[in-house]
Order: sequence, then C-alpha cells, then structure tokens
Amino acid sequence: MIPLDGKTELDLARHGMRACRQAKMAALGLPVPEGVVLSAKAVAEIAATGQVPAIPKTLLKGLLSLRASPLNPDWGGPTAILNIGISDSTLPDVGAQEAHRLYRRFIQNYAFSVDGLEAEAFDIDMPDGPERVKRCKASYLAEMEEDFPQSPEAQLKACILHMARAWNRPSARILRQAKGAPVESGMGLIIQRMALGIGRGITGSGVAQMVDDKTGAPRLWGRYLPQSQGQDALIGGRKAQGLEALPKTIQDQLRAHGQVLSKGFGDAFQVEFTLDNGQLWLLDAQPAKRGSVAALRINVDLAKAGVISRNDAILRTEPQALGEHLHPQIAANGPRDILATGLSASPGAATGHVVFTPEAAMTMAAQGQPAILVRVETGADDIRGIHAASGVLALRGGMTSHAAVIARGLGVPCIVGADEMRLEDDRLICPDGRRLKDGAQITVDGTTGQVLFGAAEMTQPSLDGPFKTLMGWADEVRDLKVRANADTPDDARLARRFGVDGIGLCRTEHMFFAPERVQVMRQMILAADATARWAALERLLPMQKADFVELFEIMRGQPVTIRLLDPPLHEFMPVDEAGIAALAQAMGMSAVQVARRAEELSEVNPMLGKRGVRIGITMPEIYEMQARAIFEAAAQVFASTGDAVVPEIMIPLVSANREVELIKARVEAVAARLGGMVAYKLGVMVETPRAALRAGDLAQSSAFLSFGTNDLTQMTYGLSRDDAGRFMREYVQQGVFAEDPFHSLDVEGVGELLLIAAQRGRAANPELELGMCGEHGGDPASVRFCKVAGFDYVSCSPYRVPIARLAAAQASLLAALPT
Ligand code: PEP
Ligand code: MG
Repeated sequence: MIPLDGKTELDLARHGMRACRQAKMAALGLPVPEGVVLSAKAVAEIAATGQVPAIPKTLLKGLLSLRASPLNPDWGGPTAILNIGISDSTLPDVGAQEAHRLYRRFIQNYAFSVDGLEAEAFDIDMPDGPERVKRCKASYLAEMEEDFPQSPEAQLKACILHMARAWNRPSARILRQAKGAPVESGMGLIIQRMALGIGRGITGSGVAQMVDDKTGAPRLWGRYLPQSQGQDALIGGRKAQGLEALPKTIQDQLRAHGQVLSKGFGDAFQVEFTLDNGQLWLLDAQPAKRGSVAALRINVDLAKAGVISRNDAILRTEPQALGEHLHPQIAANGPRDILATGLSASPGAATGHVVFTPEAAMTMAAQGQPAILVRVETGADDIRGIHAASGVLALRGGMTSHAAVIARGLGVPCIVGADEMRLEDDRLICPDGRRLKDGAQITVDGTTGQVLFGAAEMTQPSLDGPFKTLMGWADEVRDLKVRANADTPDDARLARRFGVDGIGLCRTEHMFFAPERVQVMRQMILAADATARWAALERLLPMQKADFVELFEIMRGQPVTIRLLDPPLHEFMPVDEAGIAALAQAMGMSAVQVARRAEELSEVNPMLGKRGVRIGITMPEIYEMQARAIFEAAAQVFASTGDAVVPEIMIPLVSANREVELIKARVEAVAARLGGMVAYKLGVMVETPRAALRAGDLAQSSAFLSFGTNDLTQMTYGLSRDDAGRFMREYVQQGVFAEDPFHSLDVEGVGELLLIAAQRGRAANPELELGMCGEHGGDPASVRFCKVAGFDYVSCSPYRVPIARLAAAQASLLAALPT
C-alpha cells in the first residue's frame, strides 16, 4: 500500500487516474486527506484470492472512505463507500442525531453493496436516532444471521473485497469492454480518511469549477450543500446552494487551489471539496466542464499564462468545434416572429427557404440559394441534404438524434424536437395555424431553439479575442495553404473574414442559375449552330466578366481558381411546361421543338456523360467565352487597383492529356487575341482515376493539379455520390466502410491514387502545385493527409476554412514530432 503523502509518485498504469491525481495534488501542497493506495495488481489478487492484506493501524482511527481508481476513468468502477469504521463505539462527534443518521446510512449501504441485500429490508419509517439504528442492525442480523460487523478493520476489508470483486464481475467487464477497455483492464483503490462534511461550523461538501463552462472566462462557480458529503451536493433532493453562499475566505482558497491545479496539471479544473468546520479538503479534481467556445478560450488563456505552450493550445483545440465560433447569431434586440421552439441542437442562426427533401436542399444549394431542410427526423439519406442546407429543422429527436449530431459535426445551425409543429401535405403546420409551403422563408436559431418566420436580423460572429489569437498562432505554424470553395462575391467575402489564402474552386455554373441568366444560357445550349451559340455567349460574357471583376476585387492579391463549366447541360433546361413555353417564345421556337431539344440533351448517365472538359472539347465557344471573361476581368481589376491578378483556370473532369492540350491551345489563343496582357495559370482538376494515374502526362501541360475528391471518390468506388446515402449508414454500421468516404477521405484507396498522382506529377514537373478542392478539404483527417502527402493547399467551403487552418497547423506540428 502506497501512502498518499505527496512524496511518493504514483503510476497511471498501476494505480489509476484518481490515485495519481490525488498523489500529485498532495505533492502540490493541496489539502488532500491522508490515505493509502492499493495498486491494480493488488486489487486483482484480492479479487482472485479473497485475501485482503493488513491495513496500517494508524489509518484505522476515525472514519474512512474507499474509492475506485480505474486505470482509465472512462471505464467506470464501483461506487465509493463512505464512513467505513462507524460502529456502536465509534460514532463521530457530530451531534447524536447526525451521528446516528450516518451510522444508519452506512449499515444500509454496506448491506446493499457488500452483502447484496435488498435495500427495502432497511426501509424503516422513523426519525433518525438510536432506535432506527437498532432496528437496522436487527434487520441485518435477521437477513445475514450474524451481527453487523463492529470492527473497523473487518468492515474495511469486506468493503475492499466487495469493490475488487465488483470490478471483476462479468457484467462490469462487458460494460467497460464496450467502452473500449482491454480485457485485463485494472482498477486501483484509494483508502482515505473521511472529511466528514457533517458537524460543527462551516461544514458540507460541493463541487467548484474555476472557469465559466460556456465562455471559458475565469469564474468560480459550482454547488455547495451544508451538512453533506460525497455526491450529496450533486444529486437532487435537498437544494444545494451556489458558491457565493460560502465565506469569501473559502472562495479565495478555492480560487487559489484552482490556480495551483491549473499550473500543476496544465489545465482548468473542477474540484470536489469538503468543508469540515471551516477546513477545506479536496477529494478529487477533474478537467473543467467546457463547451467548445470555452475550450478554445481556456487553451488560449493557459498558453498566455505560460502554463502550456502555444503549440499545445493548438493541438488541444478540436478543429470541428470551431464551428460554434463562426456562425451568425440573431441580433439581440431584433424582432422575432416565433413560429415554434425546439431544442438548440447546433448553434448559430440561418435564414433560408423551406425545403422538405435532401434533394431539394441540394438543388437550392446548387443554385446558390440558402435552404432550411425541414424533416420529421433525419436519417443517413439526409446527410447530403444537411450538408447542402444552411440550417436544419427536425420536428422530432433529441440532442443526440441523427440531425443534431450530423449538423453539429458540419457546423450547420440546427433545431430538433420542435414537436409543436407538424408536416402535413407538404406543408409545415405551426402551432398558431400558419401553414408554410416549400420556398417560404424561415430562420432557425440553433442557439435558442427558436424557429422564426422570415429573415431575422443577424449579427455576424465576432472573430476577435481568443479565436483570433489561436488562429494567428495556427497560421504561424502551418505551411499548408487553405483556400475556399467560393462561387459568389458573398462567399468570397465570408472566406476572407475566415482568413483564407485564396479561392481554390469557383464553380462557374452557379453564376448561370440566376433567372435572367439561365434563359440566355438555355438559348446558348439550344443554339442550332456556332453562330447562334456565339450570339448567346456574347450576352453572357459581360455578366460573367462582372462576376469575375467582383471576385478579383474581393480577393485582391490572392489566387483565384476558376473552374470552367462542368455540369451536364441538361441541368440548365426547364422541366416544367411554363419554363418550356417561356424559352420557346424567347427563341422563336415551338414548345414541342424546345421539349424535343431538351430531350435530345438528356443522357442515360449524365454524371459520366457529356460534362466537364467534354463540353469544352465539343462546344469550345463556351470555354473561350469564359477564358475571355477571366482575362478581361483580370486586366480591368489590374487597371483600376494596380494589384496584379493571376487567375488560375481549371479544367474539370479530365481523363486524358490530349483534352488538356486542346483546351490549353484555345485558352492560349484567347489570351493572345487579347494581347497577352494577363499572366495566368492553367491547371487540371483530377476527378477520374485515369487522370490520377496519368498525372505524369497532365503535369506537362498543367501548372497545377487540384484533386476533386468528390468525383474522384465516386469514380474510384463506382459509387454514386448522389445515391450513396441510401445505404451508407448500414455500410458504416456493418464496418464495410470505417466512415462515409464522401466525408472523410478514403486514405487507403482514393488516398493511394492521390499519392501516385502527386509522385508522378511532381516527377514530371517539379514546379507542379497540388491542391484538394473536394468536400474533404474541410475535414481535419483529410487535411492531415494532404499535409503528409506534400500538397500545397486544400480548398473547402468558407465556414470550414478556420477548421482547415487549425487542422493544417496541427498536421504541421504532428509532422514535426519525432516518430
Ligand atoms: C469534386 O468533384 O470534388 C469537386 C470539387 O467538384 P464538384 O463537387 O463540383 O463536382
Ligand atoms: Mg467534380
């Protein structure tokens, strides 16, 4: 048995977390009650042999507690037993009634846990006092056919044996193995003098935390219950008080102890304490409870105080948790037309148009429109919809429901459990009778759980303070650049606020979905010949150029990668009669002719059909118009601002180098026609396995390769990115995929293609830049992969830029660690 005297250091792998912490607290000079520790090995022997070693005589005076110290606190352990040693002749000096209450509680607890008796056998309805104790002892005698043990040593040994055996019970083993504990996981035991918490003077127990759990700011708070011990202050029943109820001197002592703990352990803490006639004892300390906003501030404050290093602060902050810092909130004093209230499942607020299906959310997003996905509850099929939506409203479900978990993970504001609302006939029915159809504008406030009608007034998040400090530190250590996937000026502005290093993917098709443009686009698509096509393109050119001027101005001084048109053209065609009629009129054609042409464009397998560079090769005028718009815009911005813009033109869905050569020749011809006034880079989007394998060829015609891992994952698995949701949950549940490969890069398969491409590409062209612009660019594990693979940048949606910046910094720090 090892004394908890502050002189002997304990070992986590032998004595468990709680014992090690207590030993260190004692070594730091904190007031920890005297005690001894049994190692996990000793406990295992006790369980096996039934023999408990002799207890030091000095300890067997006064009352004791016995607590579990599992090697990993997540593995649980039997409940602590308090007040061991109480007997007819050792009643504590705390007043007769209290002493008898403690004695009676101990008999009940002992009988229940050590002897496995039914608690009801001791349910005696009378006030605490000698008579009630007598009746309890009589019940014990009746049940056990022996007297309640009066020797403190016998009581303690029985308790130790009970705890040792409880740890090894099959049910306990199964439970902790389910939590990942190894088969032979162990538990130490702590035998410690009781700080009674009951008696004269300022006496009681509680829990104190030194920092605010929401903001992370220094603040002493917690619960305190006079005349109590153990978990009394935490579990219901008698009302606990706030710590302000304690004398200031004790509050100051708690704060001072908190500082010692923080310095000694390198973290902010919560302590379990007991007061015995004004004397403060610390019984345990655990890392302070904290939400993700608080966690970031705590890490920054610890680093500023020199308790941990800046690098530790970076490594300790969970990149995904930054989402909470990034979202707009509803203006504090703005009007709120509340439709209903649910649970605030994922913070931040978002306004958008009601959609009832994930497909509709994706369509909205593709058109650059914000959508609020409204579902009764969500499932695996909805993940893509949640991804595409600006906000989520699930009428059922709790904080750990599918919608809540996924939305939090993606940083999408979300409300769940809004069960006053109903879905009926494709209408969202509100408790006051309002019926909203799809397209209606609502706001979800994921911070308060309120669903509001219309567009609420928003305040943008403050990206200053600890957030800015941490991100600044992260930027100092990362060398992987983080760009944004930004299609609109709003996206670009947002990305800049989030500290982006450029735009890695501007999907130009999104610029053509606006109503006044899509009609011209359709005329271009339906044009009978190149002349007619040029006429429509001439009208699109100034619009496209204006888009690029705005983007280049916002992104001044930073790279902007513009992807030439990618989607199959049928996506631009009207599907309803009214749309067809309007187009027919604009083109001087009959509705039947238009419908027939649209029909001709439809493909059996459009995602593998005439899209991407295949459009550029077969209808070259479109890419020529786009190249011209890019060059003219760059020249205009240079002329007006003096800042050189070096646009990066990206060719999608390439599979052969000849495609690149053909497009490159056309783009060069456009540049030459404009007098070669703009420097630019031309690169390829690697989205097909063939492009990855032939990266050596492509690198000869390209300044950069950007991996479109959405399509590359789709094509590598032969798995439709739009349909995978139908079975992905089962696949992950059954362990076919460790994770959805569309969310976190499949490093084994798709990752190998990336590595092959990187190696072959760089061998052919050492100057070749490498980037990733699929959704994976905002996934921390995928970002780490890109760093290790030697990429230059990742590109992700604006809200995920800070996440990627932090993940990139962590990747740099981890890469620098000795292996
Ligand atoms: C990709 O395929 O990874 C990509 C970024 O392009 P998109 O998602 O537009 O197909
Ligand atoms: Mg793609």
